[in-house]
Amino acid sequence: TGGRNRVHFYNPADRDKAGMAEDMGWAARVREMLEEDRFQLVYQPIADVRTGAVTDYEVLVRMVCDDGDVILPGGFMPAAERFGLIHAVDRWIVARAIQQLTQLREQGKEVCFSINLSAKAFEDHTLLPMIQAQLADTGLDPSWLTFEITETAAIANLGAAERFIGELKTIGCQFALDDFGSGFSSFSYLKHLPVDKLKIDGSFVQGMAQAEVDQAMVQSMNQVAHALGKATIAEYVESEAILKLLQQYGVDYAQGNYIGRPNESLINLAATRPLYSN
Ligand code: C2E
Ligand code: CA
Ligand code: CA
Ligand code: CA
Repeated sequence: TGGRNRVHFYNPADRDKAGMAEDMGWAARVREMLEEDRFQLVYQPIADVRTGAVTDYEVLVRMVCDDGDVILPGGFMPAAERFGLIHAVDRWIVARAIQQLTQLREQGKEVCFSINLSAKAFEDHTLLPMIQAQLADTGLDPSWLTFEITETAAIANLGAAERFIGELKTIGCQFALDDFGSGFSSFSYLKHLPVDKLKIDGSFVQGMAQAEVDQAMVQSMNQVAHALGKATIAEYVESEAILKLLQQYGVDYAQGNYIGRPNESLINLAATRPLYSN
């Protein structure tokens, strides 16, 4: 249709009154969740493509309503951002993830976490010192943490992003560039962002088995990342056929429903057995 080829810049004033009222409702719920400590974290395994061993878990946030309904981040994050709650949400998630990783490590479970940071995270100057303090307090090895950031977030706040990444990389934390390939000038910024890993956007991976164009793009992104010395992760791996192609291309890690769905139980995290043996 007509709007497809035009670039739309989001203007909050465009939102109709119904949308505004709905966002206010979500924001009130986000505030409640923060006050009552009621967000939930779920964990999705990331596997080594060659060995099938689970090396890492991505931490994903959920809102559990009073009636038991589970709301995905797409349902409440935009409202949190619009009503100035996103920094508090980011801090809550990072703090809880570090706390839970500490518990798991105390139980002898050798897991690592990948934590998403919102597009606004670099505007929050209290986030970096908070992470540094919590790593010092818990004694966690910083290399057990990867922070997933998006290009858009880094570009919007390049100075702060570089400082944030630089300081945490100095102590050993890792960084992944999320949703790679879905932004505007992916390759040019990739040259400058000192990330360790690149997550190939699920939109290229999901239908890959039936689409040669997507296969070519996944291969190219994988090659460019490797030429820059970065590890690659493909997300939305939903079938064995996709996993086989990734093995063929030499993609390093795979994440998606075929590997494992996001799971709330920390007990299941003990099961870091290989998915397959070769
Ligand atoms: P993302 O970082 O790209 O996260 C991956 C999303 O893809 C997750 O959705 C996950 O459940 C979903 N997914 C995983 N495997 C598959 C698959 O095989 N097929 C399909 N169709 N989907 C799959 P979720 O949890 O709804 O998260 C959506 C987005 O919300 C995330 O995208 C991320 O941008 C944001 N988000 C999620 N958790 C957090 C968080 O803790 N903090 C922040 N700041 N953002 C978060
Ligand atoms: Ca992510
Ligand atoms: Ca992603
Ligand atoms: Ca995404």
